[in-house]
This record gives sequence, structure tokens and C-alpha cells, in this order.
Amino acid sequence: MTAQKSCNNSMEEIVALCKRRGFIFASSEIYGGYNGFYDYGPLGVELRNNIKQAWWRDFVQRREDIEGLDSTIIMHPKIWKASGHVDGFSDPLADCKESKKRYRADQLFIAPVILDGESFGYVAFVEGTDASSVVKRAKKLRDSVDKKQAELDTETLANEHTEFTEATEEQRALTLAPEATTVGTLTAPREFKLMFETKVGPLADDSATAYLRPETAQGIFSNYKNIVDTGRVKIPFGIAQIGKAFRNEITPRNFIFRSREFEQMEIEYFIAPEADWKKLHRDWLDQCIDWLVSIGLPRESITEDVHKSEKLAFYSQATTDLMFEFPHGQQELWGVACRSDYDLKQHQEHSGKSMEIFDEVSKSKYVPHVIEPSLGVDRTLLAVLSAAYTEDEVPNDKGQVERRVLLKFSPKIAPVKAAVFPLLKNKPELVEHAQALYKKLQRRWNVFYDASGAIGRRYRRQDEIGTPFGITIDFDTIEKDGTVTLRDRDTCEQRRVTEAELINFLEEQIDS
Ligand code: ATP
Repeated sequence: MTAQKSCNNSMEEIVALCKRRGFIFASSEIYGGYNGFYDYGPLGVELRNNIKQAWWRDFVQRREDIEGLDSTIIMHPKIWKASGHVDGFSDPLADCKESKKRYRADQLFIAPVILDGESFGYVAFVEGTDASSVVKRAKKLRDSVDKKQAELDTETLANEHTEFTEATEEQRALTLAPEATTVGTLTAPREFKLMFETKVGPLADDSATAYLRPETAQGIFSNYKNIVDTGRVKIPFGIAQIGKAFRNEITPRNFIFRSREFEQMEIEYFIAPEADWKKLHRDWLDQCIDWLVSIGLPRESITEDVHKSEKLAFYSQATTDLMFEFPHGQQELWGVACRSDYDLKQHQEHSGKSMEIFDEVSKSKYVPHVIEPSLGVDRTLLAVLSAAYTEDEVPNDKGQVERRVLLKFSPKIAPVKAAVFPLLKNKPELVEHAQALYKKLQRRWNVFYDASGAIGRRYRRQDEIGTPFGITIDFDTIEKDGTVTLRDRDTCEQRRVTEAELINFLEEQIDS
């Protein structure tokens, strides 16, 4: 039995494990890395593919009302004009004139520094900064105004935060930026465009400007008519797409949580204008939560953030983000928005093509409304990794208790599903049997063969990459009944099973 120890998963441990075991590397690492870009190594690409396949299977293949699509990354620039991205897809940016650092102003906050009851300015800090660092900065400001002995009002400092986008000119002039030594170095926020531009064709003038898509959704809207005309869809129905998206994020951070190149899994679910969208929105949120739980995220780590009506885009009826308890805090994982008929109407107006559908049930024609569940592949992968990361203590081959790191991936998405081990590598009959079973399993699943080292060490290596099952071929297999030992990663429990039982069990655990 294992002696489980609770573990506070830090991002550093996850990043280190990802690098050590070949899940994720910094892009262009031999040139020092490239901020906001990551590469997926042998295990990372398996995990990533399994997440995408599970999503596609559950939301497209196993449903009658959703069709798949794969549209291009670069599309006609008019699409981005119609969607509003050319004019409006930006984030507020503030520069620090002293440190030359740039901040996303809606993720930067200011807190008042009150000394002996008197206000002495503000300290700025980025979202997710811990309280002790904010106090440290406030003390820096105290020192700089020659008030070393003054009492700092830590309560107000901790509780009264204003988003930097809402700071007045006067407040900005008195603000100590996160990496500055004097106050008043932050510029007023200005809009920073997030779309990457490129040129298409041999001319390099403005008419050749095109964009790398910042979301997959517009590829769905621009193909909606094709699917309505060629498929047998009837309202309500959805179109789903998985694909790369690019955003020139001002401050990519927190590993793969916010990067400049990432992947999205998006659905546009078209409904009748008079449909009960509030109920359908709720249904979608529940389906999304159920799916996250089905791939191994604990239900209690998922919460909902309902966007306040004053923060919604004018066309949006409602948006709720599903939040996950990431190592750096509770953050958006999956956005589920009710976008009315805004996008289709925009494309109808800009393209001159009708986006109406004939509803067989109501015998009427209309432009449908849409519910948009939009999920990041990379954020899901980070959520899965942080939920799976566990440290516990188990006895080794000699019976001594040892610390172990394991990834408790659900068998459905685990990069390696099972590892096959001959008990000893110098016994040809064991090796032969193990190789035959390995080849057989390999035809269906990604399995691993390992013959080197003590069996306990071999188990440990697989635990660390999250392989749920270990299968050992020993002398009983050869000499007695052909059964193998099946070991469970999480409990370390072992039992003997026949080959037929093994295959049934794996099928049930992996393919359900
Ligand atoms: P945020 O507020 O975190 O910038 P957003 O609200 O702009 O995100 P959406 O435009 O709703 O995000 O994108 C849908 C989903 O795509 C997000 O919920 C997230 O999972 C993913 N996503 C968005 N931006 C990034 C990024 N820079 N890196 C990784 N995933 C992202």
C-alpha cells in the first residue's frame, strides 16, 4: 500500500518534470528560448493528441448534432474586418519608462500606501503577486519618501486594489511600478493590437496584409453556409474545430497557460432566435464540466465566473468562464459565451451572402443565434498535468520507504497506456513472451517495453510519466498458467490476470 502525502503542486515542479521527461520544451531552446512559444516532446505530443482526440470523439463523433471542420489559419483579411478583430482585438498596454518592462494594464493593479494614516502613493503589482511581495514594495516606497519608521496600513494595502486601466492621471503619477525605483514611471494604458500580421503574395504593400488567426471561431462562421448547404444539419446544430491560434500577447507567462502560439477546441452551436438560450447555456456549461471531469480534473477544482453585464461585449447576452485551480491560481480554462446572431450578421453584411437558414420545424427563415464553448488545448494540458502531479511514499524492492513522483493521468488521456516488462532481461523465454504481448498491445495502444534495471525502478520510471498500468511477465507466466502481473500505478497493487482479462480490462479503462 502507498502512504499518500498531500502535495502543493508548484509550477516549478511541473515545468521541471515536463522538461526532464520530455513533455514540453521551451521553443528554440538552443538559441536561448523564445518567449511565449513552446514545443511538445515525445510524451507531450501524445498527451496533447489524446486530449484532442477525447474532445473530438465526445463532442463530434459521438453526437448527431455536431459536425467537424478544419479551416485555414490564414483567411481573407475581410473576415477579420467583419468580425471586428482588425479594429478591436487589442489589450491595454502600459510601459514602464524606467525598467522598460511592458504590462497588460488589465492584469496590473495598484494598492494605496498609507503611512501613519497619510496617503503616500500606490504600489503596482501584477495579477497573482503574493501579498508579502506587495508589502515589500510598499516598504520600498516608504523608504524612498524618508518615512522609514512610519506605520504601514497593511489592511488597506491588501484590500483596496484598483485595476490600472481605471487609475487616474494623478494616481499614475504617484505609482511605483513593479520593477521601478521611483514613482510615476508607468504610461497611461494604450491599445495594443494582438493579431500577428503577415504578407500574402509577391507584393509587400498594405493590400497584401493578412493575419494569423487569433481564434478558430471565424473559420467556422465563414464556413457555416457551406455546411448548411452541403450537410443535413437542422437547428439546433454545432460546428466544431480544433486548430492553432496566434496572439501577440503582451505578457506571455505561467508556462503554457498564456502563450503566443496555442491551440483551441471551439464549437459554434447554432440555435433558433427564440430558443431558451439561458437554459441551453446552462446545459453547455454542465456538459463542459462533465467532460473536464471525464478526463481526470477534480470537480471541486472547477468553478464558474459569470461575466458582469457591464463587462460584456455589446452583442453578447452572457458569458461564463469555467475556472480551474491552476498552480498560479484560479484562472480561465473554458469560456462559454452566448454571442447572439452578431457574427453571422456581420458576415452577412460584409460578404453580401445570406446567412439565413430554413427551419423545418417552425417553417421560418432566420439567422441563427449561437452559443460558443471555447477551450484551449494547452491550458487543458496544463490543468491535466497539475491535477495529475502527485508525490507520495512507497516501499522499494528492499522494503524501504521511498519518495515517488507520479502523474495520475486518467487512462483515457495518459500518453503511455501500459508498460510491458519481462521480469529478467537475460531469460530468453521471458523476453520472448513479453515482446509478443508488447507487439500485440502496440497494435491498439501506445505501450512501452522496458527490460532494463530492477523491476521497482522500471515501475517508478513509468509512474513519473503517468503510465497507468504495468504488466510483468515472470516464471509463473511461462511455467504455469500464462497469467501476467497487472500493477496499478496509483495503489501499486498487483494481481494476476489472463491475457484475455488483461485486454478486456485495458479496453474498458482506455477506450470507454
Ligand atoms: P484571457 O482572458 O485569459 O486572455 P480570453 O478570454 O481572451 O483569455 P478567449 O478569447 O475566450 O480567451 O479564448 C478561448 C480560450 O482559448 C481560453 O479560454 C483559453 O483556454 C484559450 N486561450 C486564449 N488565449 C490563450 C493564450 N494566449 N494561450 C493559451 N491559451 C489561450
